[in-house]
Amino acid sequence: MNLVIDRERLLSEIETLASFSDAQPPAVTRIIFTPTDLRARAWLKEHCEGAGLEVRQDAIGNTFARWSGSDAAAPVVGTGSHIDAIPNAGKYDGIVGVLGGLEAIRALRRSGFRPKHSIELLVFTSEEPTRFGIGCLGSRLLSGTLSADAAAKLTDGDGASVEQVRLAAGFTGELAEVKLANGYYKAFLELHIEQGPILEREHVPLGLVTHIAAPATLRVSIEGSGGHAGAVLMPDRSDALCAAAELILSVENAARNSGATDSVATVGTCDVFPGAVNSIPSRVRLSVDIRDTELHRRDAVIEKIEAASRTILEKRGISIRTELLNADPPADCASAIVDALAQSCKKHGMNFLPMVSRAYHDSLFMARIAPMAMLFIPCRNGYSHRPDEFASPGDIARGALVLAETLCRLSV
Ligand SMILES: [Zn+2]
Repeated sequence: MNLVIDRERLLSEIETLASFSDAQPPAVTRIIFTPTDLRARAWLKEHCEGAGLEVRQDAIGNTFARWSGSDAAAPVVGTGSHIDAIPNAGKYDGIVGVLGGLEAIRALRRSGFRPKHSIELLVFTSEEPTRFGIGCLGSRLLSGTLSADAAAKLTDGDGASVEQVRLAAGFTGELAEVKLANGYYKAFLELHIEQGPILEREHVPLGLVTHIAAPATLRVSIEGSGGHAGAVLMPDRSDALCAAAELILSVENAARNSGATDSVATVGTCDVFPGAVNSIPSRVRLSVDIRDTELHRRDAVIEKIEAASRTILEKRGISIRTELLNADPPADCASAIVDALAQSCKKHGMNFLPMVSRAYHDSLFMARIAPMAMLFIPCRNGYSHRPDEFASPGDIARGALVLAETLCRLSV
């Protein structure tokens, strides 16, 4: 079998898809179910059909493009990613996995290969949380992580619900039918840019993901009492920001002392009320992002933060409320797929690095219903979610080639 990636065509398709954008080039903005997104989807559907694939779309707009295998009843080998882009993003995040997946399938067809298991390209709806405030909307529904009822009620910044917006965009049918049956997939494999600096720094062209870390988000509200910065003497104060300062250091310590470098915790926002130079802060709101590759360790970090807040509350006589906004479990990649990826790399003489995905992806949710793995390619300086995001043509072609080779191994 002679697998050849049509690099020029793949690169020109990446450029074309980037032109469906609500931002000035090179920036790309493509928010889910906007007219621009719908035009991009139509273009992509046409290209999938042009490649001889059979396209279906579910009620939330997840798009499946199938190359039927010789055993139509056998579980599917899936690949894919997303094409939505946050405001002012680049042209590779998600796109490399979608158009690279399409080119991998075309390369397999050109080679004369005939799969036993059907191979499907999957384009997820709304991996980015931009419009509805929740990431991975499509894959959460596919995996049953989010119920149809809960999804339908999510609203965008204008108060329009998912239900209204998806119907207006032409995606009818029942949201409850989006969930895939267990056993639908034999394997699911996502090609993606690394969005971090490791592959570039190590001069290794491919990363084989073994674990996907998952975030938990805490919202912390601290209530003290305010007053005049001159008139209230120190023994009489309940300064909410001083309590927050202690808590922020406890967050750092909880992650640093977890016993593993995979534990990370970040206080990313801190809102101070009333926020005046001569006023004692009465109220502070913090957001805390905690991630790990091991669920028990991540939860232990959360418990330490909660224990610290109880200690600070007692010591300072103020109120601290912590609220867990989300806590998705991390996922392990399927060793059989990682092995297939490693064999494919070896066959084509390519070096690779086992690694952890510290950003999360639709594959995190697909792991709940399918054996899953991810393949990373380098991106310049690790930049992503910005207009100067860049992956080199050679790296993109290598990723598509190893993806094609691995889809072949998994689908016989
Ligand atoms: Zn992505």
